[in-house]
Amino acid sequence: MMRKVNLKVDMVPKGTHGRKVVRPMNPRYITIHSTQNYTAGAERHALALKRGALRSGKRPGGNRIGYLIWHFTVDEKVAIQHMPTSEQGEHADFSGPGNLYSIGIEMCEERGSNLRSTIERTAQLTAVLMKKKGIPLKNVVPHYHWPRGGKTPPNKNCPHFLLDNGKPGRKWKWFQGRVNYYYQSLE
Ligand SMILES: [Zn+2]
Repeated sequence: MMRKVNLKVDMVPKGTHGRKVVRPMNPRYITIHSTQNYTAGAERHALALKRGALRSGKRPGGNRIGYLIWHFTVDEKVAIQHMPTSEQGEHADFSGPGNLYSIGIEMCEERGSNLRSTIERTAQLTAVLMKKKGIPLKNVVPHYHWPRGGKTPPNKNCPHFLLDNGKPGRKWKWFQGRVNYYYQSLE
């Protein structure tokens, strides 16, 4: 399965940008996002994270460190890891449980790329992480699951192409089925 996932490890250096503050984490959830960036795949996202290009306004109750950071970015060819799964990211809900306890996975949607291949690779990576961390399928959630304090609407339409009218429905159920299919196929 890991061969299919084609995982590359390309960490943001510890102590810089999104990892300038190391906050330990024992992950209990996996949060699925999409980048809504139509001009970049996983490698360009990895570069942007390493350069500290993905900034976000730091404020009380909002972003805690001034940068965005998550654990994995997946595209049609590769999955890239940006930080250890034992550290909190900054991708979901500020100081909420989505950041405190979840592994963040971003799916690329670069124009012209094969989205189906990206989704299958994401489902495979998710299954492997569930197995490794003992995370149940019900704790694999869309970003939508985590309300963001102070935002309107609080629940983001993310990943938009796996939601129905901005909410988990038929498409999300289908994705859960793909994850479960790969999970069941693991030893
Ligand atoms: Zn998201």
